[in-house]
Amino acid sequence: MAPNERPKRLTVSRSSKQGSEGPLEEISWDLTEIFPSTTDPSIQAAIDGASKEADSFAEKYRGKIGSLAPVDVRRCIQDYEALQVRIFDLDLFSTLAFQANMTLTDTQALHDRASKIVAGLNKELAFFEVELGARVSKERSLPKEASLATYSHALERLGRRAIHFLSESEEKLVITKDQFGVRAWEELQNRWLNTREIEVSVEGVRKTMSYGEANGLLHHHDRATRESANRSIYGTLGGSGEIFSFALRSICNDWVNVGDVRRYSSPMEASLIANDTEKGIIDGLLSSVEGHVELYRRYLRLKAKLMGLHKLGCHDIVAPLPQVPDLTYDYETAKALVTKAYVKFDDEYAAAVKDMLARRHLDLSPRFGKMNGAFCAPWYRGRSAFVFASFNGHLNDVFTMAHELGHATHDYYFEARQSYLNMDTPSIVAETASIFGELLMTDLLTGEAKSESEKMAVLCHVLDEAGMVIFQVTARAWFEQSLYDAIRRGEYLDYKGICRRWTAARDRIYGDDVEWFNELEAEWTMKPHYYFSNYRFYNYPYVYAQLFVYAAYERYLREGRAFVPKFKEALSLGSSKSPAEIGRVVGLDVADPSFWDLGFGRFEHFLSELEKVSKS
Ligand SMILES: [Zn+2]
Repeated sequence: MAPNERPKRLTVSRSSKQGSEGPLEEISWDLTEIFPSTTDPSIQAAIDGASKEADSFAEKYRGKIGSLAPVDVRRCIQDYEALQVRIFDLDLFSTLAFQANMTLTDTQALHDRASKIVAGLNKELAFFEVELGARVSKERSLPKEASLATYSHALERLGRRAIHFLSESEEKLVITKDQFGVRAWEELQNRWLNTREIEVSVEGVRKTMSYGEANGLLHHHDRATRESANRSIYGTLGGSGEIFSFALRSICNDWVNVGDVRRYSSPMEASLIANDTEKGIIDGLLSSVEGHVELYRRYLRLKAKLMGLHKLGCHDIVAPLPQVPDLTYDYETAKALVTKAYVKFDDEYAAAVKDMLARRHLDLSPRFGKMNGAFCAPWYRGRSAFVFASFNGHLNDVFTMAHELGHATHDYYFEARQSYLNMDTPSIVAETASIFGELLMTDLLTGEAKSESEKMAVLCHVLDEAGMVIFQVTARAWFEQSLYDAIRRGEYLDYKGICRRWTAARDRIYGDDVEWFNELEAEWTMKPHYYFSNYRFYNYPYVYAQLFVYAAYERYLREGRAFVPKFKEALSLGSSKSPAEIGRVVGLDVADPSFWDLGFGRFEHFLSELEKVSKS
């Protein structure tokens, strides 16, 4: 539940264009509501208090959870929650302070100390989940006990996970062996990738740069620069194909072996359990995407036309249109736009956005020593959240604000209603309000666009992002599945074999509508999530979330005001109900394979709008 724990928050990778028109005033967050400062004595007092409480919790419950009366199980869970809320504060404060200023000595020291203490406390408390899980997996009626009604779904989820737990000593051995075993392969990919030197021709000037810098050029306005960046990045990474394939092959084979020991029915099952969903639902989702590839290709063909090309090159898929303006926004305008978009949906719905802005819970200034990326971390005790991003005044930054403040809105709703254990929303649900916020922003910006080209810029931005999330990410899920299928058939996954499987999955999406550089066969080498050693299938939850929210938005447009209370209710549920049940609250049935068509309706709407503007 720590803010940096994956896969709690999926952040869609966005173009990280660096602008010179960043905000003038420093927009740093105010963390003093959690602790007064990184060196305040109250932090030590909180550590001492949590340690003492953890000791007495362990003394009271260790070895006994299996035989407690249901009402005492509830007391035990409540004690555990109270303790976790205290630990969460420590973890949150030290992590947020560090991520905003990673080079300051006091934030480094606190982060280092706190993360060791938090890890130690969680190790001491690990018996809670193991013992409770063992009990639920044996006593299937426990979640239905009236005294445990608040935790009913959390207990069912735990039971579903717990049947795959090994014994305590085996689990300890797995953790110990993984550290320099499969986790080392994950680490190797990361290190190797981030220590490559890439030579790119930037608007005609040859420059040597890091992988991260070169990656930022994939969205460059100059086509030749994009070509150079693409060829150079993937040519360089492909040159180390033996290393990447060795790492990926080892991780996938390890997953298959461990999955057999844990008695998973498929390599995807652990991810289905983590996402609180079912195979049939995800199969329906992915085949619906395959059934709609023509819709995406229609967009790609239109984009080629708008770019004056016979066919899109792989370096044009997410490129900005040459003829549209690079829209820029100052911070005051961005704040006003996000607030307006949320208020337009419903005044009360915008309460979290207003509160977050008023209490300065956002850290948006780019600065030396600040971590990359964007996220929103919930703060349960404060019934609030904290948003982290780097605002450079581009259209993309306005969408990031709308997205992250959507997470905050979601957090405010369920923190107000749910017990701590019920805020463990799976990835496929965690993105609901964030993507909804982007849709509110899209409607506002397209409605208020001052010119056709401004409207085109917004629509292309939205279709580029949605195209990647819905379609390209589906190809990644197929690719990952194909690796496991090959292992099961006893095939050896060498570098070229992995490349072939990637291009085959990719071409199921893009067909003949994109021209690919040969170097792009190595595209899979750089995706860190293929190498997450203990979390597989990081991909399809993005697809689910995007299409689910697109469908929800369609319902909103059809139902108008009547939709608003249902949506708020859905957000308030946190993880106390399954994603399928949450869908039903807003009138959506994810188990029906034809349901996903509704979400594609939104994609088609944006596409038709773009077709109209580009013709006029
Ligand atoms: Zn998100």
